[in-house]
Amino acid sequence: MKILVLNSGSSSIKYKLFNKETLNELHSGIKEEVKDHKEGIEKILTKLKEKNLIDDPKEIFCVGHRVVHGGDFFTKATLVDEDVIKKIEILCELAPLHNPANLEGIKAISVTLGDIPQVIVCDTAFHQTIPNYASFYPLPYEYYEKYHIRKYGFHGTSHQYIAQAAAKELGKELEECNLITLHLGNGSSACAIKDGKSIDTSMGFTPLEGLMMGTRCGDIDGSLVYYLEEKLDCSREEIYNILNKESGFKGLCGTNDLREVIKLIDQCDTHAKLALDMFIYRVKKYIGSYLMILGKVDAIVLTGGIGENSQLVRHAIYESTDKFDLVHITINTDEEKSIAMQSRELLD
Ligand code: ADP
Repeated sequence: MKILVLNSGSSSIKYKLFNKETLNELHSGIKEEVKDHKEGIEKILTKLKEKNLIDDPKEIFCVGHRVVHGGDFFTKATLVDEDVIKKIEILCELAPLHNPANLEGIKAISVTLGDIPQVIVCDTAFHQTIPNYASFYPLPYEYYEKYHIRKYGFHGTSHQYIAQAAAKELGKELEECNLITLHLGNGSSACAIKDGKSIDTSMGFTPLEGLMMGTRCGDIDGSLVYYLEEKLDCSREEIYNILNKESGFKGLCGTNDLREVIKLIDQCDTHAKLALDMFIYRVKKYIGSYLMILGKVDAIVLTGGIGENSQLVRHAIYESTDKFDLVHITINTDEEKSIAMQSRELLD
C-alpha cells in the first residue's frame, strides 16, 4: 500500500508518494499552474500510473494533507470528515492565502478518489501546547475572544519531525528532551521544546513574526506599520506586501537567497554583510531567550535550506552556544514524511 501526501497551494500542488510499510519515498513532484485542483489531482494520479507507481487507486491507503492553519481546533493529525471541513473553512479567515487552497486539495481528492481516508496535519498543531502566557499578545483581552488573536506558530510539522529525529540521535525518548529547534530557510522560525512539547515559537499570529527571513522582516515595532502607511501614502495591502515580500534579506541587500548574499559579501557589499550579521544576531537572541525559559537544553537542532547547508551560519550559531553543555545536531527535515507517518499512526 502507498500513502500520498499533498501540499495544495493556490497555484501549485506539491506531492510525495510513500511506501506505507517502510515510509520510503517512492516519488515526489510538483504540479504547477494549477487552476482547478480536481484537474491537478487527476494529472498527478495519471503521472503516478504512467510511472507504474500505482496500478489501481485502491493501492492508496490514505492521503495526507498539509494544512497551514489549524487554529485552536487541531492539535494532532486528524481524519477528515464534514466537521473537519467546516473547521478548516472557518479558519480560512486566519489564513486566507493558504487554507482555501488546502481545502480545495481535500475536496478534489474526495471527488477523484471517493471516500478514501484523508488526514490533515496542520503547521500550527505542534504549537498548541504553548501556554497562554507565551501565546497571548498584551492587547485588550476581548480581541482574543472576538478575533482569536494570539500566537499560533507555524513550521510545526518540521519542528516536530526534527525534534523526534534529534531525540533518536541523543538516544532518548522525545518526552525526555529539552531542545531548541531552528528551521532556517526562506521562511525561518525557532522553537523551544520542553519535555518533547513546544512551549514557545518565534512565528506568531501569522508567519511574519520572529526571525528575520528571506523576504519577511520578522520582529519590528508595530508602530512602523502606521508610520509607513503615512510616509509611503499606500494601502494596507501594500504595507502587507512590503513586510512579507520586500523585507528581510531581500529588503536589506536585494536578494533573498543566502548563497547570493554570501557572494555579495565576498565582493565587499556592506548591505549584504549587515543583513547576514542581523540574521545571525536575531537567531542568537531567540536562542538566548529560549535557553533562559528552558533551563537545561540537550541540543540545538538545525534544519531548512540555510540550517542544513550553510556552514557559515551553523558555525556562528554553534560558536555562540559553545559554553553551554549541549549537543549540536543537523537534521534534513521532511515534513511530507512526517505527515505520512502521522497519517499511518492515526489510521493503523
Ligand atoms: P523554504 O523556506 O522556501 O522551504 P529552503 O528551506 O529551501 O526554503 O531554504 C532556502 C534558503 O536556503 C535560501 O536562502 C538558500 O540560499 C539557502 N541555501 C540553500 N542551499 C544553501 C547552501 N549550500 N549554502 C547556503 N545557503 C543555502
